[in-house]
Amino acid sequence: LVEASLDRIQKVDGQVGAFLMVDEEGVRQRARALDEQGVADDVLSAIPMGMKDNISTTGVATTAGSRILGDYTPVYNATVMEKLNGVGANMVGKMNMDEFAMGSSNENSGFHPVRNPWDLKRVPGGSSGGSAAAVASGQVTFALGSDTGGSIRQPASYCGVVGLKPTYGRVSRYGLIAFASSLDQIGPLTRNVEDAAAVLQTIAGYDPKDSTSAKVDVPNYLASLTGEIRGLKVAVPKEMMGAGIDAGVKQRVQEALKLMERLGATVEEVSLPHAEYAVATYYLLAPAEASSNLARYDGVRYGIRVEGENLIDMFHRTRSTGFGAEVKRRIMLGTYALSSGYYDAYYRKAQQVRTLIRQDFEAIFEKYDVVVGPTAPTTAFALGEKTDDPLTMYLNDICTIPVNLAGLPAISLPCGLVDGLPVGLQIIGKAFDEQGVLRVAHAYE
Ligand code: GLN
Repeated sequence: LVEASLDRIQKVDGQVGAFLMVDEEGVRQRARALDEQGVADDVLSAIPMGMKDNISTTGVATTAGSRILGDYTPVYNATVMEKLNGVGANMVGKMNMDEFAMGSSNENSGFHPVRNPWDLKRVPGGSSGGSAAAVASGQVTFALGSDTGGSIRQPASYCGVVGLKPTYGRVSRYGLIAFASSLDQIGPLTRNVEDAAAVLQTIAGYDPKDSTSAKVDVPNYLASLTGEIRGLKVAVPKEMMGAGIDAGVKQRVQEALKLMERLGATVEEVSLPHAEYAVATYYLLAPAEASSNLARYDGVRYGIRVEGENLIDMFHRTRSTGFGAEVKRRIMLGTYALSSGYYDAYYRKAQQVRTLIRQDFEAIFEKYDVVVGPTAPTTAFALGEKTDDPLTMYLNDICTIPVNLAGLPAISLPCGLVDGLPVGLQIIGKAFDEQGVLRVAHAYE
């Protein structure tokens, strides 16, 4: 399996650019050990997989897609890495990403962009673009990504794979390099729903090392894939099927809904009245949290240092050199929003709107089992198409961001093509009902 994965990387990754680092020696060594000891009794044992490069891996460089981290090599594993090691999954390498997970196209990587395997002139989506492209091009069987505003689901959608963002608190964030701590969540990118269930099974669960991880029982996800959705109540928010959503994408989603009806579900239109404020809310909260989380890259503790005339000058030069343009933009936005005198007008207001968005979903889930719509308003766009216009880039996350603000689980899975490019269907569930989300996704798939 490992040799097949390495062969495939050799063959295609020069064009795709999904890996930042291939741990050839490590992966072969672990494969040999598995050959000698025998494969463990777990579906993930010996399976080659990729880790988004913002997930800490002992002894293996972890860059978060940023130059500022230099050759930083963690001395501990993220909990998700520990858990995957525990069942014998075999990490092939670290996946390319937008710097500090800020982006929707993977063009903000501090190293090189990733290309969409369906069309190399197009973006794979972001920020987990490397993870999605590697799974789509058969370089690894699965990969982990992180999702703060859509970064697992949107690249899954653009690359025609399955991407699952668990409920906030379902999967430990210990060892995940923080972007926006109240939104970040780790999850799998896979080729089908069954694999997503298997990976979630391994990585989910309470972790005393993450104070926001939830003490909620982890059910048997594979057992919930019954194929049965008769009587299921599906809500379709009109805001996710309205203006700004490409006609071809809408059509594929409508066809998916028809299929769900044929499987015995009822489908009704609903409204998320505050959804129109979600992107604005996110772009206050996420940069605010990021500006605080990224204060630690000061040339003292991690990564690169650019010497200066004094301490402040050293901070200044290190951060000016190490961070890319989008990261600087976010730090400036976030610092501004948190400045004295503006806190009430921006951060507090955004928190209040976030509550309203969460309540919109709660009201829907009183009557419905799942919320369904597109993952992204379009299919994969061309490299360079949106790089000069951050606002258009931000608007691409219009269907995924409300889910992070509400902390809910959601999956993106392929629902056909438009002009030869994959479309993603998004299924959103109640808090901690990954089981329900997976069941519906599997029945549709
Ligand atoms: N595209 C969004 C952003 O740039 C979401 C990123 C993410 O989910 N990590 O912030």
